[in-house]
Order: sequence, then structure tokens, then C-alpha cells
Amino acid sequence: VPSAYEIAQCQFKIASERLDLSEEACEVLSEPMFECTVRVPVRMDDGNTKVFTGFRVQHNSARGPCKGGLRFHPEDDLETTRALAAWMTWKTAVVGIPLGGGKGGMRVNTKELSDAEKERLCRGYMRAVGRVLGPEIDVPAPDVYTTAQMMGWMVDEYEAQIGRREPGVITGKPVGIGGSKGRSIATALGAVFAIREAAKDIGVDLKGAKVAIQGYGNGGSNAHCLLQSMMDCKVVALSDSSGAIYNGDGIDYDKAYPHKQETGKLDGLEGTDTMSNEELLELDVDILIPAALSGVLTEENANKVKANLVAEIANGPTTPEADDILHENGVYVIPDLLCNAGGVTVSYFEMIQNACHDRWSEDQVRERLDTVMTEAYRELHSRVQKDKVNPRMAAFLIALERVFAACRERGWISSGDA
Ligand code: NAD
Repeated sequence: VPSAYEIAQCQFKIASERLDLSEEACEVLSEPMFECTVRVPVRMDDGNTKVFTGFRVQHNSARGPCKGGLRFHPEDDLETTRALAAWMTWKTAVVGIPLGGGKGGMRVNTKELSDAEKERLCRGYMRAVGRVLGPEIDVPAPDVYTTAQMMGWMVDEYEAQIGRREPGVITGKPVGIGGSKGRSIATALGAVFAIREAAKDIGVDLKGAKVAIQGYGNGGSNAHCLLQSMMDCKVVALSDSSGAIYNGDGIDYDKAYPHKQETGKLDGLEGTDTMSNEELLELDVDILIPAALSGVLTEENANKVKANLVAEIANGPTTPEADDILHENGVYVIPDLLCNAGGVTVSYFEMIQNACHDRWSEDQVRERLDTVMTEAYRELHSRVQKDKVNPRMAAFLIALERVFAACRERGWISSGDA
């Protein structure tokens, strides 16, 4: 299975060739403008010190300050962070918000840490990278295995360093200290808006539509909740890192979520059968939602996908080879660059509220998110039809054109190109 970095580089190459971008433009756009690796010593509860490795990558800031989440994962590394940062550059361009792309992370298994150790780790990370962050420079947010509480510790540490309040340095904070209402469900809600629009175009009736969701964290569990409550979908399969569960009559969110909270896993939920994560991807459903990690739909299993619609809440779940197979088989893939952009969009709303000392109601957030997602989806879909490309390629074409134009307007790329 190709790594996230290999997937991102390959996608960029295909799209840049189609746009006939010059070598010079590709050099500017393909690699990050800034990256750092930090070693963070953390005092553990047993009194010993352990050193953790962390990263921050700023891919491109031509369209605005860099923006992108923090991933705390045992296999995190600089290359993965680079890929995720580049995807943020393209994603913010696809939904047309004035931000660039960044990403960060730490190589750590948070499941092995106490809350006090997590807090010291978060504060240590902020001490190490705070100097390269700021509301007009680069703004982190939650991602895999990071939470609103962690963002709260980090903003507190940053503000202690600079000696004043600066809530816009990080988004996805708890609402009481400057977080936005609706941020915790934003990624899933944005995906639901995109699914609603795509379903109209490809003729899927959402009422009673069968859904399988891989990954049951922030993205996956909220997608379950919203698809059930807003769209009347029937979610028949769910999974987390411990495996998958299935019930052909539907799995109720109000039973699954509390079970996951109480036991730490989905496994063992009453009335469900177990299956593997691989089997979940190949189920006979209408909608498949990868909401965990990258590289899960590959040339090995893409032919076995039976869903009509794949909605990518995860970043980079589909390899370029799988993309071609799915497209040939008539599967409509709502690409990650659009499908999961609800998170960064509401993060952007949070930055606006922070800058203006304002607070929006949840209805305001939902309404504005709907507008951003629906417009971006419509633009993407007309590009699909106009250029006769698959939705991922359409997203890349839109994104590369916008970022390219901004780089040229700044004089980073000479104007004779492309
Ligand atoms: P999270 O930490 O809240 O949840 C991750 C989930 O994935 C957990 O349920 C975990 O058990 C599951 N998981 C891990 N390894 C797995 C495996 N091998 N098979 C099946 N499940 C596995 O993370 P999240 O914030 O929900 O992020 C999920 C995906 O969505 C990531 O790819 C992330 O980059 C992307 N995303 C998140 C946001 C956001 O706002 N949180 C925004 C855009 C994209």
C-alpha cells in the first residue's frame, strides 16, 4: 500500500500534467515551504522523562495563513505530515476559504498516556513549535487522536508564552475559551451536506439508504449521528481499530455511541455481528464512508466495492490506482478535498469569531457551512461534467489553479508560465 506521501505526490503529478504546469510551478507547489522536527521532553507520571518527536509543516501560504490539524499517532512521521499539509493547501482552495495548508503531529500512542501526561505533552509541543505559529502565520486544529481539551491546553501554553490572549492561534478549542459552536460536528456535517448534493446528482435516495462507516472517532461517529437523524439513512456497519460490527437492519447511534464511550470499542455491541475492517469496505451498501486512515481503498479491493457513493471523511483513503478502478466501475467518490472540508471551514469561522471577539449561534454556523459546502460541491460537479474527469481530478484542477494564481500574483512563480 502506498504511503500518504506517495499518494499525495502521485495525485499532484497527474493533476499538474493535465494543467500543463511548468517545472518551475511544480517545484514551488509540490513541496512544503517550511517544515520542522522537534524533540519534546515530557515528565511522565513515574518521575522519568521521555522524549517525543513532533512535526509542523507549512506547505503553502499564498492564499492565506497555513491551517491544518495535529495528528498524535504512533506511526506519524515527517513525510505523512507533508502529505497532509499539501492536502490542506488544496482543500482550503477547493472550498474557497482564504487559508493555506499546514499540518503537524507527534509520534505517540496517546492510549498509553494518563491525562496529566497528555497535558504535559501538549504544552511541550506548543513550547517547541509556538514560535512558528500565530493567527496570521499558521493555525493548528484537532485531527486523529487529538481533542478539544488538548487544543485548550495548547492555547493556554501559547498565550502564557506571549503574555496576552490570542485565541485564534488554534481552532477546535472548547467553546468556553473561544471555540466555535458546531466545530465538533463540523467535519461530519460538511460531509453530510456533500453527500446530500451528490445523492441528488447520482440518484441515490437517502431515506433508508444503507451506509457503512470505517472509523468511529470525531468524523465517523458524528457522521453516524447526522446521517441517521438528518437524512434517515440506515447505518448497517461501523468499525474502529479493534474491528467492525454489522446489523443489516441498522445500528442505532444512541446505542452504538454510548457503548463505544463506555467500553472503548464498538466490538460487543448487542444485536451486531463482528466482521473485519476489510469486509466492511466490501459490503453491499449504498454509501461507504472511510473515516479512519489513508490508503484503505487500493487496487486489491477497489473492484470489490459495491457502494454507489464513497464519501471520504478520512484524508487520502483511496490510492490513485483504486481511483481509476472505482471511476471505471461507476462509483462516485466525493474526494476528501471536498468531503471533509467542513472541519477546516468551521475552523475558519472560529478564526473569524476570535478575530472579532464575536460568537455565532450553532444555526448560523450550520447555515454558513451549508452555503460553503454546497457551492464548492456545485463548482466541483460542473468541472466534472465540463472536463469529463473524475471528482478527485476536478478538485485538484480547481485547487491547483487557485493556488497557482495566488503564487503568481505574489511573484513566486514567473508570469510566463502555464
Ligand atoms: P479520531 O481520532 O477522532 O478517530 C479515529 C478513528 O479511527 C477511531 O475510531 C479509531 O479507532 C479509528 N481507527 C484507527 N485505526 C483504524 C483502522 N486501522 N481501522 C479502522 N478504524 C481505525 O480521528 P478523526 O478526527 O475522526 O479523524 C478521522 C479521519 O478524518 C482522519 O483521516 C482525519 O485526518 C480526517 N479528518 C478529520 C477532521 C477533523 O476535524 N477531526 C477533519 C478533516 C479530516
